[in-house]
Amino acid sequence: MTQRDDDPLAGAGLQTLAVRAGQERTFEGEHSEPIFTTSSYVFPSAAEAAARFGGESPGNVYSRYTNPTVRTFEQRLAAMEGAEQAVGTASGMAAILSTAMALLKSGDHVVCSRNVFGTTTNLFGKYLAKFGVEVSFVPLLDQAGWREAVQPNTRMLFAETPSNPLCEVADIGFLSALAHGAGALLVIDNCFCSPALQQPLSLGADIVVHSATKYLDGQGRCVGGAVAGSAEHMSELVNFLRTCGPTMSAFNAWVFLKGLETLQLRMEAHSRNALALAEWLQAQPQVEKVFYAGLPDHPGHTLAAAQQRDFGGVLSFRVRGGREAAWHCIDATRIMSVTANLGDAKTTIVHPATTTHGRLSDEERAAGGITENLIRVAVGLEDVEDLKKDLARGFASLAE
Ligand SMILES: *Cc1c(COP(=O)(O)O)cnc(C)c1O
Repeated sequence: MTQRDDDPLAGAGLQTLAVRAGQERTFEGEHSEPIFTTSSYVFPSAAEAAARFGGESPGNVYSRYTNPTVRTFEQRLAAMEGAEQAVGTASGMAAILSTAMALLKSGDHVVCSRNVFGTTTNLFGKYLAKFGVEVSFVPLLDQAGWREAVQPNTRMLFAETPSNPLCEVADIGFLSALAHGAGALLVIDNCFCSPALQQPLSLGADIVVHSATKYLDGQGRCVGGAVAGSAEHMSELVNFLRTCGPTMSAFNAWVFLKGLETLQLRMEAHSRNALALAEWLQAQPQVEKVFYAGLPDHPGHTLAAAQQRDFGGVLSFRVRGGREAAWHCIDATRIMSVTANLGDAKTTIVHPATTTHGRLSDEERAAGGITENLIRVAVGLEDVEDLKKDLARGFASLAE
């Protein structure tokens, strides 16, 4: 959303944008944003109908095209990401698929980080490959590997930072320079940080994709996604979404736009809890190693401190022992939810090697550091002392 000079939100802070951006009150004067549960819209005249279908008049036609609640969400997220425009999608995967379908064609090549969401690997490696889009996977932090993977037909670089579950931090500026030198776009999956902690566009990325399912909602209620970037790129996305249909529902858009209002406050609280838990874990004799970029000894600490406002809510750690010890610690918790989801007020705990990263080969898991004794915690908003006690239950019986 480009801001006009007379826009009261011009130059406003992130928290003001989160609460105010994108709202257009109706004649009813509602204070809070309404949900427009309508599939289609009535035209005041046949001539206006013709003008809207012809694209000469900007009004609503059909909710696969535009919906006022979805538009409010899109404008708010765009303002928070510092993007000209954003589009809502049916899920995070729909956001990534739509970006690829709108901006790539058969014969194009993508360089994708190896350390991305598993389904993203599948989307590029299995489905886009079927339509003639070539993909090379590179370890996130292997800068020489990224350089070598770029080919004359490379049109897109795709990465997620920080990575799941080891919190590896990629240099967005490096990837941006590499992409632009090759005439390619840099796409960053900003799910783990959200715009409250990281704005990839300001660091040189061209496109940001989101699983709104995670922190944008923040309370585990809805599945959705979003893409943000320049008006030119977003117009390609809009055309794809209108034609192919993986659009966001009005109800979900309402949940996400209300979620954005508290996003920064929640991300600060998630980060505070995660740091406290990471520091405590480091001091436990049953813990071999903790992975959290907020810890000064994490290899990504300095870069994360420069690139992000805070370190986020996801951490992982290795317990002493193997799979049995890890499963024991997970099963001993009584507050945390044993689930692979993240970005929720409720803390979640999972064993990556046998769930989120279970489809990888043993060699791929070993190369990625996904050991059998690794546990990931997506730290929620409970009192952190209770989370420590919850993990201590498993540690206590390990020591016996
Ligand atoms: C969950 C997730 C996705 C996929 O989003 P859905 O909303 O589940 O489709 C993509 N990227 C990351 C980093 C995720 O965590």
